[in-house]
Amino acid sequence: MFDKCRKYEPFSTKLWLASPKMHGEEQKWIDDAIRTNWMSTVGENIDETERLLAEKVGCKYAVALSAGTAALHLAAKLAKIKPGDKVFSSDMTFDATVNPMVYEGAVPVFIDTEYDTWNMDPIALERAFELYPEVRVIVLTHLYGTPGKLDEIRKIADMHDAVLIEDAAESLGATYKGKQTGAFGEFSCISFNGNKIITGSSGGALLTDNVEAAGKVRKWSTQSRENAPWYQHEELGYNYRMSNVIAGVVRGQIPYLKEHIREKKKIYERYKERLKGLPVSMNPYDAENSEPNFWLSCMMLTSDAMCLQVRSETEALYIPEHRKSCPTEILEAIASINAEGRPVWKPMHMQPIYRMNPFINRYGDARAKTNAYIKRENYGADGKPSDVGADIFNRGLCLPSDNKMTEEQQDKVIEVIRACFE
Ligand SMILES: *Cc1c(COP(=O)(O)O)cnc(C)c1O
Repeated sequence: MFDKCRKYEPFSTKLWLASPKMHGEEQKWIDDAIRTNWMSTVGENIDETERLLAEKVGCKYAVALSAGTAALHLAAKLAKIKPGDKVFSSDMTFDATVNPMVYEGAVPVFIDTEYDTWNMDPIALERAFELYPEVRVIVLTHLYGTPGKLDEIRKIADMHDAVLIEDAAESLGATYKGKQTGAFGEFSCISFNGNKIITGSSGGALLTDNVEAAGKVRKWSTQSRENAPWYQHEELGYNYRMSNVIAGVVRGQIPYLKEHIREKKKIYERYKERLKGLPVSMNPYDAENSEPNFWLSCMMLTSDAMCLQVRSETEALYIPEHRKSCPTEILEAIASINAEGRPVWKPMHMQPIYRMNPFINRYGDARAKTNAYIKRENYGADGKPSDVGADIFNRGLCLPSDNKMTEEQQDKVIEVIRACFE
């Protein structure tokens, strides 16, 4: 085997995909919580975090929770999902988008991805409503901080009287036509997991304009206590509230959201500029109507620049070839310099746990024998692969996007990627 891209010295400390960046204010608010003894799920940090988030996103209420996943679970409850109900979900996403629906007994129906923003394809969503007109819930992820086709999807949701749940876990601060993601759905979720654009080390929030919904989430997330002198319970409860210490970290991070987005955008632009001439493109967005938060910089190889790459459920192999490459080779090359990249999210319809669930592309049920997907051997009527998610998964990868990365470090990553195409 020839070694075109593994001849580089590794970084002495690991360059992460995306890691927390602290500023000092977080410490002050944590200390405040300790000094004032508000060491539970009540306190000023929580109140301030909720106020700042609602103000930032432009929604009426934010309820601080223990995780984005908890927010999605309570959103599923607010959407009144019952066992056996089908819900339409983004397909190329983290499984935390869809698992909480299944906690409530839902059967996810996966909607294929479009090439313009790598998000839910509105045309496939319309097909899905033709096949399952009874569906009343849509869960939409804004992948890697890039807003999806919100006008189209909001319109389809309204036409079918469906509740839109926005999974804005990755997209805090991103806007569509000037409005923040997280402000389009009836209920939305954001996350403060350690690798998100801002972090609390963990944590999340549910966003809504509905006062009754916000009240329910506050109640459910604290074990559903009724207003009584003793612990009185009428409903199932959860321990999902954010801690006042975690809220201190989030509170300290919120003022730096804009700065983080600026840094992330710079990283994206530098990749875009310096990868020019290679048979690759960056994760795309609708520059006219949206401004992503650029949480992760990703790229995709052109089909004809792909060397042979084969993936089993848990392993990947490829055959190195001059002037060609593949995500596996590039990820291995990046790892060889002690840096972290990642394949794009493996679509949910390809996951063993969800493999039997319906998967709808723009030609209809992608698993039906009548579908163009089968008839045209993976290519639809417009000549494009009709399993778009599988195609992006095959050709795409996430690049080191840490906003503490130096320009020199990024240039070395770029050099290694270039070498993969020698
Ligand atoms: C991170 C993430 C979540 C879950 O957030 P947690 O706070 O880790 O529970 C949900 N959906 C997507 C798309 C995410 O990236």
